[in-house]
Amino acid sequence: MDFRVLGSFGGDSPDCRMTSFLVDGEVVVDAGAITRALTISEQQKIRHVLISHTHMDHTATLPFLIENIFGTHPEPVSIYCAKQVMGAVRRHLFNNDTWPDFTRIPDHVEPSVRFQEVVAEEPFTISGLPSGDLEITAIPVNHIVPTTAFLLRQGSSAVIFTSDTGPTERVWKVANETPNLKAVITECSFPNRMQAVADISLHLTPQALAVELEKLKREVPVLIYHFKPPHLDELRAELAATAMNHEIAELVQDRTYSF
Ligand SMILES: [Zn+2]
Ligand SMILES: [Zn+2]
Repeated sequence: MDFRVLGSFGGDSPDCRMTSFLVDGEVVVDAGAITRALTISEQQKIRHVLISHTHMDHTATLPFLIENIFGTHPEPVSIYCAKQVMGAVRRHLFNNDTWPDFTRIPDHVEPSVRFQEVVAEEPFTISGLPSGDLEITAIPVNHIVPTTAFLLRQGSSAVIFTSDTGPTERVWKVANETPNLKAVITECSFPNRMQAVADISLHLTPQALAVELEKLKREVPVLIYHFKPPHLDELRAELAATAMNHEIAELVQDRTYSF
């Protein structure tokens, strides 16, 4: 699977784009930086958008993507998310106040956007991608708004993106049981001195990440995303100094990983 990091951060600055990944050129996972990282012609190849949760650092460029690809394809672009996420995206983003309701443009019979409800732990498949069919499974995690991790499976490889989460359980069990797991992408948002903020907002610090990774009972690369831009240096120093039972590396923005 071709996995391009469009944005790997939990906030926005000139060097830090918000969370968004491009899979096989046609599927995006979260929408924090699609229109900031891709050319218009690259954006127009996107047919499927997975949304883990409604926070702006995961949805901010969705309205502009829809506008940039409008009218370029006979079929609507599909947005996949859990029911509660879908309700919030429709209510707060595509509500005809913040942005037009593209599920009714040009009309509700042939709209330019189609929402597809994702049910937790019920896999679904996107077929016809360059590297083969992509099977996706949503797994609820423990964030301050309803949020799902995504398990992505294609051919003989699998990747788990936990999305934003505080301490959680189920996704680590799935990680332990998934065959051919090539990587786990998980978060670290605040330095240790901000543990209280991390606890309230359900995010991880380096010391909390170390505890989480004890639940991962297998050798698999762990890639860290979602640093908050004001704390990059502090987070990198703390992660380097924290004893972990797994090798970790920072998920590199603009890099394309082959999983
Ligand atoms: Zn986030
Ligand atoms: Zn979040």
